[in-house]
This record gives sequence, structure tokens and C-alpha cells, in this order.
Amino acid sequence: MHRYFIFILLLITLNPRPISNQTSYEPIFDGNSAFEYLEAQCSFGPRPPGSDNLSKCREYITDQIESSGWVVELQNFTYRDTKCVNIIAKSQNPNQSRFVLGAHYDTRPLADQDPAIENRTLPVLGANDGASGVAVLLELANSLPEKTRSIVEFVFFDAEDSGEINGWDWIVGSSKYVDLLSEQERTAIRGMILADMVGDESLRIPRERFSTDSLQNRIWEKADTLGYSDVFLDTAGGSIIDDHRPFIDAGIPAVDLIHYPFPWYWHTREDTPDKCSGDSLEAVGSVLESFLHEQQTGITSFLPEPPIQVEWLVVIVVPVIAAMTIILYRRR
Ligand SMILES: [Zn+2]
Repeated sequence: MHRYFIFILLLITLNPRPISNQTSYEPIFDGNSAFEYLEAQCSFGPRPPGSDNLSKCREYITDQIESSGWVVELQNFTYRDTKCVNIIAKSQNPNQSRFVLGAHYDTRPLADQDPAIENRTLPVLGANDGASGVAVLLELANSLPEKTRSIVEFVFFDAEDSGEINGWDWIVGSSKYVDLLSEQERTAIRGMILADMVGDESLRIPRERFSTDSLQNRIWEKADTLGYSDVFLDTAGGSIIDDHRPFIDAGIPAVDLIHYPFPWYWHTREDTPDKCSGDSLEAVGSVLESFLHEQQTGITSFLPEPPIQVEWLVVIVVPVIAAMTIILYRRR
């Protein structure tokens, strides 16, 4: 009997596969390549909506993503007399059911948080706030395997970051994108993931509070599996007005990956490439690549969680309290 036991023990010992529930998928996302995309965007200078610099950057993004084999569609719209453009990229064999990966490619027109007053009328370069999210998407477009591409749509939003300047709103491009979705297109989006300010060399991404829990949990599990729990922190972050919000408001599960609290150089003249690192871009890109690889099997659906509305309190809680008060009053 014990001979069989030793034989079995030997088989277990010789089994080359580790006994573990970890995914065997190895992301190929290259942080150095992503960092080059970040620097290239900054080489055009500050990129506020309607500027020549933003047009050049748009051509650059379009060329890069097309050369990675994606099909580009430009979504033109006018906001406060300024011509704006969202860049949409889909696979050559797109699946209706898909994830939208978003980032804003415009930069803030004024460095209004700069400690030097004379700098506050000058524009922001946006290495982290703008270029970093785009860089992650461009490198993902480069590295996603063919099978995964069909469930992905990249959207580079214009006019995210001009809020409260000359009467502009925040998140104009993403709001427009969601407004223009047909009912069929809207319900086909399984989830939206936003990458915004993901380049800081000491990147920390806590759980943004408006984000959809089920989708956020799955991404955080992937980060943990890949050893990035020092970047994807299991703590509560801020409640951010960002490009994921129009999706959440439309009932689409969405998650904002955003550095929080914002780095000290946020909306200043100091938001330059030297504050960023390829390692940080690689952490975010690898987690997204791994998540998307898993999702190509289509097993998980992420349900939007409507927040408890004030109307809900009015409709249910107030009448219940009123009824109880009347009953108690009558009994006396
Ligand atoms: Zn910003």
C-alpha cells in the first residue's frame, strides 16, 4: 500500500504546474513603449480644445492606433463655438457586446492651481493629466491579442478638462459620446473603464467612489493577482467628476482608474513627463490587458448599481413614517 502512496507522492512532486488559482495569462504590455506615447503627446505642447496642438495630437493618435490595426471614426461636435472631436477606435471584427476603454486627450487650458500667480494664465502640458491615460490605451491597442480586440472599443475624449474656465463644463466629450449612443449601442456596452492620471512614478489608485463595485472588484482582483496591490489600493478614494460619470448616469457599469489624492503638480505648469514612469503605465496596462483577456470568454456581467436616490426616500420612507405616526396618534 505504501508503495502506491510513495508513487502518488512522487507524481505530485514532479507535477510542474504550481498548485495555485493564479491566472496563467502573462500580459505583454510594455511600459517603456507606453512612456514613448506619453512623451510624443507632450512634444506637441499643451493641447487645449480647439488648438492646433490638439489637432496634431489627434492625427498622431489616429495614425498610431490605425497602424496597430484598428479602425478609427472621428466624432465631431461643436461646444461653445469650439470644434471638438472624440476619437473612436474599433477592431476590424467588432463584437456588439464590448468594453469601452476611455481616456481624455485634451489638456487644461489654464494652470489655475499653480502656486505662481503669473503661471495661472498659461496652459498645462498634461503629461499625467491627459497623456498618461492615452498612452496606456495606445499601448494596449498595440499589445491586445486578436481574440480580445473584438470586445474592446477605445474612445479618446475631447474637452474633459476645461471645466469652470470661461463658462465651460467638465467632461464634455464623454457626455456627448453617451448622448449619441442608440439604445441598442448603450445596452451592448458591458462596462466602461477610464484611465486618467495613471502615470505618476508613485502611482496610487484607490477605489473611486462613483465607480461600479462589481466591475471595480474584478479589476482589483486582477491587480492583486499580478502583484500590483501597492498601486491598486484597497481603500476608498475620492468622488470624482470624470469621463466615467455620463456612463454611470446612463446605467452602464463604469470604473475610474485615477491617482488620488491628486498629485501636487495637478493643473500646474509642473505636470511634465519627468513626474511619470513607464512602470506605472505598465501596472495599469497589464491589469487591463489581463482583465480583458479574461472577459473575452464573456462569463461575467457587471450590473450597474443605481445609487439610493433622494426620490426613493420620499416615495417609501416618508409615507411609512407618516402612516406609523397616524396609527400611533389614533391609538392614544
Ligand atoms: Zn485635469
